Amino acid sequence: MLGHEVYRGSSYGPWHPLRVPRVSTVMDLSRALGWLPRDRFLRSPRAKPEALHLWHTPAYVDALARAEAAGTVDDPTRARHGLGTTSNPVFAEVWRRPATSAGASLLAGNLLRDGGIVHHPGGGTHHAFPDRAAGFCYLNDPVLTILSLRRNGARRIAYVDIDAHHGDGVEHAFAADPDTLLISVHEERRWPFTGHLADRGIGQTFNLPLPRGSHDGDAAHLRDRLIAPLLERMAPDAIVLQCGADAVEEDPLSRLAWSNRAHEGIVRRLMGLAPRLVVLGGGGYNPWSVGRCWTLVWAALSGADVPDRLPPEAEDVLRGLEWRGARAGRTPPEHWFTSLRDAGRGDRPSPEVEARVEALMTRDDVLIPA
Ligand SMILES: [Zn+2]
Repeated sequence: MLGHEVYRGSSYGPWHPLRVPRVSTVMDLSRALGWLPRDRFLRSPRAKPEALHLWHTPAYVDALARAEAAGTVDDPTRARHGLGTTSNPVFAEVWRRPATSAGASLLAGNLLRDGGIVHHPGGGTHHAFPDRAAGFCYLNDPVLTILSLRRNGARRIAYVDIDAHHGDGVEHAFAADPDTLLISVHEERRWPFTGHLADRGIGQTFNLPLPRGSHDGDAAHLRDRLIAPLLERMAPDAIVLQCGADAVEEDPLSRLAWSNRAHEGIVRRLMGLAPRLVVLGGGGYNPWSVGRCWTLVWAALSGADVPDRLPPEAEDVLRGLEWRGARAGRTPPEHWFTSLRDAGRGDRPSPEVEARVEALMTRDDVLIPA
């Protein structure tokens, strides 16, 4: 696992959805469970500005670094680069935090030169564009992960995005690249309002919008009938999974109804489908849901057995969380403290999801490079 203390206590602001602790919870829970010994953890390096020019414009990287130093941005910078807005505020670590996440993504490719698995829960900021911030994302570390893997010998790369929001920045980067398979599963009619079922790119782009209320039965269906078959057909050199936790039912920013078993099941299915696997974080705005989900993901990746009832040290981590300003934060249910794995929610896929998966899998233009 790649992590860092910069995420602890860092907040986008008292009213922003990203005011909640996430990566620090995953690190604390994993340590409390004995799943994160020293030899399984690496401190993320902070990317140097020049390293980010691999995809981001020098003017934008410079503006982002200056925003942290100055604590503010001027109007032209706000207009040009999307910094200092409600979604993408100038907060205390506005340069260090994304640069650390990007540094881990750049390192992931080097670490996986000869194969293996990296979990980078601070990554997954899939909405950033080369010259601007968007959707709480300042630097696009999924794009940097893919480019780093490619520099380290992986040519054909599959990007799978199960965040509740469409991975628009990553699609922008690789929409015309025949060596990158793009699969994004997201809630329909939700920001950024891109990622339609009919969007094909050059034949390697697969967008599956999900109806409101989509549950574990739908997630299992798209895992077994869309993601796994496409990946088996492609046989990629590497898989990058953006594992946003905002499709979980208790998340405040989506109306999907997955349990964290859906995420776990997809992660377990992807393991072994390519010699290299990078699992990133992403959205997730309920501190209990996101901490439990990504710790469960780490258990899958690291081969740990998940107990039905958490030991007291782990329970203490969850009882110590706060979710200020959210009604659900005042009365968290007991199982948010005492367990990692949710109860399942739904087992049969809905007819709409079945039909959409079928539409994607019977496309006549599917171009999966060999
Ligand atoms: Zn999201």
